[in-house]
Amino acid sequence: MHGSGIIGSLRWWYEAIIRGLGGDACDPAGHDKCKFDLKEFQKAKNKGENEQNALKRAGLCDACKVFGATGWSRRFRLKIDEHKIIPAWNGPTLNIRPPDRSRGWFLNPGHWGIFTLILHGEKPVLEQLADLLLFLEQWGALGAKNQLGYGVFHIENREEVEQRAGRWRWLVTGNEPAGGCPDLRRFGFFNIRFKPENEKWWTYIPALERLLGGENTARALKQTGERGMIPLAPVLKNEWRFHDWQGPFSIAQWLFGASREEDRVRSKVNVSWAYRNGEKWEMRGWVWLSPKDGSGQVIASHHLQKLWKCFRNENLWSSALKISSPELVFKPADQRWREKTPAAVRGFLEESTCSSS
Ligand SMILES: [Zn+2]
Repeated sequence: MHGSGIIGSLRWWYEAIIRGLGGDACDPAGHDKCKFDLKEFQKAKNKGENEQNALKRAGLCDACKVFGATGWSRRFRLKIDEHKIIPAWNGPTLNIRPPDRSRGWFLNPGHWGIFTLILHGEKPVLEQLADLLLFLEQWGALGAKNQLGYGVFHIENREEVEQRAGRWRWLVTGNEPAGGCPDLRRFGFFNIRFKPENEKWWTYIPALERLLGGENTARALKQTGERGMIPLAPVLKNEWRFHDWQGPFSIAQWLFGASREEDRVRSKVNVSWAYRNGEKWEMRGWVWLSPKDGSGQVIASHHLQKLWKCFRNENLWSSALKISSPELVFKPADQRWREKTPAAVRGFLEESTCSSS
């Protein structure tokens, strides 16, 4: 596990939230990323501007103010204590291959266990990071390869983090963000819970049945199952992409990512593994219904509607997981997909991190 991966994903979410709240965050991978102008910064400070305004005058967006840009350092330090982290299973990469796929998805064991994030910084920054972590615990994930289901976590010292949280008093500045970057207004979230009749429910799923036939892969699956996690993200992605959604190939690649090049075309569809949560099992995820594809072409609205319908398809969940009567929750709850307003995004963030949830 790497600190840089954690910081990278915190930044990714931070930017998506800033944009979702109607603020401006640059694309740090793009050509219009912020450049810090020290002279402008000092000039503004000398004129008596507060730091936030001076940073804006110096050319920083709200994300770069906290996460840094060339010439302006990150406003917090992060250390990870991971001595209680082990691989989710001992053994091989698992090739999760539904019967109708020739190649399937490859999952490595990743990390499992308890880790500690130690954060240092000024109070307003730590308040925002606490808000962010509480939100990601409910609806998001940390670290790399969320599109394959990695990165789900639970906060052990929840009360302490809640006390430190700023409760989304995030002020955003700037203009309407350009449409090409992740933006919470165009995110749809889902959560599914179910109580299987049979403890061995997952062994009847064809893509896993195949792995249970091999000695090493069977041992690996059994091990992760005992730890309350079943790597089922590929099974759902396969259903959505190849069975339910039938649109142009180029859009499928953009939205679902290319399975050979997960990192080059990052999937907009993210779904966790199944994991035990008390008496029930749970899966959750999110989709970024980006208005344009990789080449900047507008994606026709009916394609996005169809995709949203795929996720809401209860029968699909039941048949893919071989379970009955799952409880499904969607945010936004609307049957028809529509972009949220900044006010609705703020409401969702507040609701998802209040202590009753
Ligand atoms: Zn920036």
